[in-house]
Order: sequence, then C-alpha cells, then structure tokens
Amino acid sequence: MPQLTSLLSAAFIALASLSTIAIADTVTVYSARNEQLLKPLLDCYSKETGTEIRLMTANEGALLARLNAEGASTPADVLITVDAGNLWLAAQQGQLRALNSPVLQKNIPAHLRDPDNQWFGLSVRARTIVYSKSAVRPSELSTYEDLAQAKWKGKLCLRTSKKVYNQSLIAMMITEIGEAKTEEIVRGWVANLATTPFPDDTSLLKAIAAGQCQVGIVNTYYLGRLLVKEPDFPVGLFWANQSGSGTHVNVSGAGITKHAKNPTGAQKLIEYLSMEAAQSFYVDEDLEFPANPKVKANSIIKEWGSFKPNLLNVAKAGELQAAATKLMDRAGYK
Ligand code: FE
Repeated sequence: MPQLTSLLSAAFIALASLSTIAIADTVTVYSARNEQLLKPLLDCYSKETGTEIRLMTANEGALLARLNAEGASTPADVLITVDAGNLWLAAQQGQLRALNSPVLQKNIPAHLRDPDNQWFGLSVRARTIVYSKSAVRPSELSTYEDLAQAKWKGKLCLRTSKKVYNQSLIAMMITEIGEAKTEEIVRGWVANLATTPFPDDTSLLKAIAAGQCQVGIVNTYYLGRLLVKEPDFPVGLFWANQSGSGTHVNVSGAGITKHAKNPTGAQKLIEYLSMEAAQSFYVDEDLEFPANPKVKANSIIKEWGSFKPNLLNVAKAGELQAAATKLMDRAGYK
C-alpha cells in the first residue's frame, strides 16, 4: 500500500509539473494590429519554440477597455498595438510592466521605446507629405508648416483629426514649435482644405491621384501598398522637414501586461519580434521601416531614398495627445 501511495504521489507530481510546463508554454497576445500581418509571425515563433500563442485581435480602444475590466484575471500576457500614443495610454492606465531586456535595449533605439521600458517599438512608420506628380514639383515642398501657406489654398487633403496618427503628429509639433504656433499652422491647414477630411490615408491618396487635391500627409506604407498594386500610381512622396528636425515617425510596438501569467514567455516573444527575421517580415509584408537598425528597408521603400527621422522620443506623442486633440478642435480641424 505505501508503495502505491508513493507511486501515486510521484505520478501526481509528474502531472503537476506537466501542467506547469503547459501553462508556461502558452503566451496570450492581445493585439490591435492587422491579423494578416501578425499571425504568420506568431506561427513562425510557435513552430520554432513550441510555444502556443493565443491571439485575440480587436481595436485598441476595445483591448484597453477589456484589460481594464479583466484586471488581475486577464489572460493577456502581451499587448501589441500601433502608435506610441496608444502604448503610452496603456502604460499610463497601469496596464503594462517594466521589461528588463538587454536584447531589446540592444535592438531598439532609445527614441523608439518607453523611457521606463514599459513598451518597445517594433516597426517604424513615417508620416510625411505626398503630392500629385502632375500638379506639384517636389521643389515646391518643404515642411508640414509650409502646407499652411496661402499658396496651397484649396489644394490640401487631410485625414480626420480623430485618428491617433494625426494627434501624434500634432503632439510632435507642439513639442517643437509650441502650442500657439502649432495652432496657427493647423488653422492654416484647415483654411487650405480642398474637401472635408478623409476617414483613412488610402482614400486621401486616391483623391490626390484623381485630382481632387494636390498635397496631403500620410503614413508611407499606405502609398507603398498602392504602388505594389499599381506601380505608376501618380502620387509622389516627399520627406518633410529635412532641413529642420526631420520627418515625424511613430511606432507599432508591444509591452508585457501588468498581470501577465507568463511574463518570461511574453518577454521571449517580444524579443523575437525585435530580431532580424521578424523585423524583415514587418518590412517586406507591411512596407513599414524596421525598428532594428540592422535590418534593411524593402525595395519599394528604398526608391523613396533615405530620410532624416525626427529623433524626439515617441512617448511625447502620448504625453501631449490630449493637448493635441484640444488644439485641433479649437482650430476647427474635424
Ligand atoms: Fe495604419
């Protein structure tokens, strides 16, 4: 009988440690990124490491609300989303924890991560000026600020101010030139609009191609996607503010949730996403720029030439998001 007891308890211990392994080998990801982009990367990771990834995709507002509602019982280990403004908000709401990783410190430049290490940028998106190749010469272009001048009256197209991308751009301008000057510029943009702001960058680009307007501001990968389908798409890209502080860049990125059940597994996954193979995927599949400087840009992107990015820490976008939103409201930017 004692033998059976010890056998049973040995079996029990074995079972218990098996289930520990099972738990440790599962990472739950809440992601606001396009599933088409992220899923193949996560599948590669599972194949290489044996880790099971549970992926839940929703928009960033819904994900943050869910994290808040679930509190300590959340199954989420990792939060992945676009725009430093969203990552900053998650950290601000206490949804993330500091991540001490020499790998991430090495792979991700300081201006593309949270100064408190609660989130790390994994891909870079540049928001810059685009123009009609038939109506505008690049020599007529210079800065975001210049688009407020009367010479662009009735020629400018913008995306809605409700999009966090524009809030982050305005936040950067507030940091650099102050609120009063930024508001003056935004009022100038509004006065120059050819039509009401667009819901997305792609329809803005198509409006330029159709001659509805001549200049606009977009994230470059939207133009890249149109160029993949239509290499002669008649819209050019101009790197804004190159003789000043550089073109506005933002990130998509990730952090470990405050209540992660598997923080070690979460960290390994985020580290994997910062390495060269995963970084190349972001570049080739989504036409973004790599966050890891060791990785080269895609060939469509290469044609746009290299540019000077604004090196302001992207966390600023979050800190000044509320001020930016209020400013755009005051200026009548819908
Ligand atoms: Fe986007």
